[in-house]
Amino acid sequence: MGSLFVVSAPSGTGKTTLVETLIPRVPGLEMSRSYTSRPLRPGERDGVEYHFVSRERFDSMRDAGEFLEWADVFGHLYGTRAVDTRRHLDAGRDLVLVIDVQGASQIRRLDGSAVGIFVLPPSPAVLEERLRRRSRNHLTEEELRRRLAVARREVERMGTYDYVVVNDEIEDCVERLRCIVMAERTSWRVAGPAGEAIARAFRDAG
Ligand code: ADP
Ligand code: 5GP
Repeated sequence: MGSLFVVSAPSGTGKTTLVETLIPRVPGLEMSRSYTSRPLRPGERDGVEYHFVSRERFDSMRDAGEFLEWADVFGHLYGTRAVDTRRHLDAGRDLVLVIDVQGASQIRRLDGSAVGIFVLPPSPAVLEERLRRRSRNHLTEEELRRRLAVARREVERMGTYDYVVVNDEIEDCVERLRCIVMAERTSWRVAGPAGEAIARAFRDAG
């Protein structure tokens, strides 16, 4: 059974960049692909960044109980499909969900062993700068202000996560994330059974 990592951060902090950099460096770790009713942005492809579905299709999937968690984020619906998650974890692969704070609290209520990681921008000013740089082509000034206002509320939820990392410098931050995954893989919950098997071999030999 793999471990579930839940990464949240205010929009524009860099969580997607960080997790996409992390994944190829950690064998056995994969990133979940969510479903969303949001329209594609230029350069995005269905099945790559997200599974892009109509609002009707999203509603029917939600009503059929297909989502492990879902949330309305900035007016669009986003959800993690339960069967996708189960397939990964049952195959013994670790999975990262990059989801908002509402979805993260749903997951943590369902699965107490999910590892919550909150990523903070170094400051409000840096967050605004990153949002502006990334968003030049798809966010209006009003939407940008809204994201900054939501960010103020989201950082207040940091205390409900297991780990907090500041995304100051990408490489340093990715390394901290890698260490969190490694720490989890050596925790008693995950590594205990293998340790017990070795202890049994000692007992049998004695
Ligand atoms: P999120 O997924 O949290 O909304 P993104 O990963 O899309 O954020 O990153 C937002 C912007 O900030 C992108 O332009 C990205 O290249 C940039 N960025 C991410 N991390 C850093 C960093 N440590 N230093 C400078 N820029 C960063
Ligand atoms: P964007 O549309 O900019 O890619 O993402 C907007 C927000 O939706 C981000 O905060 C992202 O983490 C969140 N998000 C993406 N997928 C999911 C999901 O499956 N569930 C939830 N709850 N939030 C998601």
